[in-house]
Amino acid sequence: MKPSTDLTTTLQQMLAQCQPLYTQGKVADYIPALAQVDGRQAAVAVATLDGQVFSAGAAEQNFSLQSISKIFGLVMAMNRLGDELWQRVNMEPSGQPFNSIVQLEWEKGIPRNPVINAGAILVADVLVSHYSASKTAFLTFLRRLTGVEAIYADPLVYQSELEHGNRNAALAYLMKSFGNIEAEVPQVLEHYFHQCATAINCKQLAQSLLFLANRGVQPGCNEQICSRRDAHRVNAILSTSGMYDQSGEFAFKVGLPAKSGVGGAIVAIVPQFGVITAWSPPLNRFGNSVVAMQLISQLAEELGLSLF
Ligand code: GLU
Repeated sequence: MKPSTDLTTTLQQMLAQCQPLYTQGKVADYIPALAQVDGRQAAVAVATLDGQVFSAGAAEQNFSLQSISKIFGLVMAMNRLGDELWQRVNMEPSGQPFNSIVQLEWEKGIPRNPVINAGAILVADVLVSHYSASKTAFLTFLRRLTGVEAIYADPLVYQSELEHGNRNAALAYLMKSFGNIEAEVPQVLEHYFHQCATAINCKQLAQSLLFLANRGVQPGCNEQICSRRDAHRVNAILSTSGMYDQSGEFAFKVGLPAKSGVGGAIVAIVPQFGVITAWSPPLNRFGNSVVAMQLISQLAEELGLSLF
């Protein structure tokens, strides 16, 4: 599929039609710093493999990366640990809320997949244990992918998560009790909250993940970011588990590997074409942005992007 220059107009029209949806969701407030964000903001961006970026709305406004950071952490951990990683975390959908504890107890400290919180905390443990300065390594990775040196972790969001992260701490200590966390729990949580607190915008995020639409090679710099097999595997996990407990419905209706975060962003990978990102802070009951869901669903429908 070739994007046309009309794509910008399409994105603008779609965004305008979303106005009535702004009041339908609720901005995340379990992390107090996120509750401060103005809920009437929205953006959409499409980055294509041939280097074009189309956007509408506040596409250069920073938001909190949150759960979408789990993709970058996972790629870094896969690169360092290879197949050993899959002995410590599974690749199955969870069918449970993203921060559920019960399943982890039943399954003896092995998280269902790397994009629920338990799995991402496990991945954070791999990064802490295998990089001398994992927080810096994470930011360096994102800067390399975006070409933007200014990418940073928002100190207010980071602090807020540290102060209100009891549930994540419970997950980490439970995994530690099963022997599935190597480093000290506080260090692992600090890394996890730091990567979640990354500030980024829609255009940068879309460009940063192009390698997943391009068999592991980042277009532009032509760097092999991960193996072709691992790009395929990450997309498979995103297709089955990336949209919290709404992943099945998203596959059914949209049909693209995708990941959402409680900061209100959603990223969708379109293999051999590019990456779509959308952002608007109010979330539905599953934790997915109402407006971003609508924007990505509509665009996928109009451009016929479903993989299935
Ligand atoms: N930092 C958030 C948490 O751990 C991320 C959740 C999310 O975006 O799904 O609770």
